[in-house]
Amino acid sequence: MKKHNFYAGPSILPEFTIKNSAEAILDFAGTGLSILEVSHRSKEFVAVMDEARDLFKELLNIPDGYHVLFLGGGASTQFYTVPFNFLNTKAAYLNTGEWASKAIKEAKFFGEVVEVASSKDKNFNYIPKGYTVPDDVDYFHITTNNTIYGTELLKDPEVNVPLAADMSSDILSRPVDVSKYAVIYGGAQKNLAPAGLTFVIVREDALGKVTRPMPTMINYKTHIDKGSMFNTPPVLAVYSALQTLKWLKAMGGVEVMEKRNIAKAELIYGEIDRNKLFVPTVPNPEDRSRMNVCYVMAEEYKELEKEFLDFATARGMVGIKGYRTVGGFRASTYNALPIESVQALVDVMREFEAKI
Ligand SMILES: *Cc1c(COP(=O)(O)O)cnc(C)c1O
Repeated sequence: MKKHNFYAGPSILPEFTIKNSAEAILDFAGTGLSILEVSHRSKEFVAVMDEARDLFKELLNIPDGYHVLFLGGGASTQFYTVPFNFLNTKAAYLNTGEWASKAIKEAKFFGEVVEVASSKDKNFNYIPKGYTVPDDVDYFHITTNNTIYGTELLKDPEVNVPLAADMSSDILSRPVDVSKYAVIYGGAQKNLAPAGLTFVIVREDALGKVTRPMPTMINYKTHIDKGSMFNTPPVLAVYSALQTLKWLKAMGGVEVMEKRNIAKAELIYGEIDRNKLFVPTVPNPEDRSRMNVCYVMAEEYKELEKEFLDFATARGMVGIKGYRTVGGFRASTYNALPIESVQALVDVMREFEAKI
């Protein structure tokens, strides 16, 4: 039976990425060696790193003056690396979920943190609006897509300070005006590559403004100067990321991805709104994530949750169980997920409704 992969992360990757990665494990770039056993300083791997960096810049239309870094440590390491490099006295954060809360916790080690707004009062089921960001903060941090709660900030906030963003789960799913940001980062395991890789897009002239002493590895400048090769990068994950970037380019780039992602989101949210058994957890359509679609059983059908999960699993749906703090279901619809998989899930929801 065909499996439809709705995992939230690590998550679905293009078949192109998986096949080429498997091939490189057997024979990398005609070296007769596995990519698992060649030096990251070999000319073959240096070429992979250079191409991945260039393609990332091209696809996201990243302006001059910015650097793309491929590091280890995950997005969670960036929660303290960002304030280490940018927070002098004060930073503003928007609290839209568990990941944002974790980022706030880390920033507090480095200075004053102004939480300008939070959606915690409603279990993070909306994106706060109408807040004010003080003009004297070093940056304003947002989490563009809230993987756990299924909300997404699709429009850059209009503020007078540089933006910093965790884009772990919506990077490359739509165009972004990078020029508004001092830094964008994320774990690659949602939309780009296997786990173990972290991407960072950083504006060089925003750096060097903090006065604290910096350990070498946490200083972005180290990695800029060494082209992400100060220490051993996650070689295989970088190779896989390059394959995903090539696939993205061949598909038509982020504009085409955005169209595909909108179509997938409309299909699944349309069914959730129509089907009497289900309700979306995010009431405002404007705030609904295109990457993580969260929904629960309607009140009068609550006891059918487990039955629906088993029904869907038996029909090839994988990874649709909701996160424990939200419950219900979460269908992650990342770039690599074809619309056929969304249609398959919609069909299962209809079939289940007809049977009740
Ligand atoms: C998954 C996720 C993280 C955590 O990433 P790690 O690489 O596991 O540290 C952080 N932020 C968001 C928005 C995520 O989706």
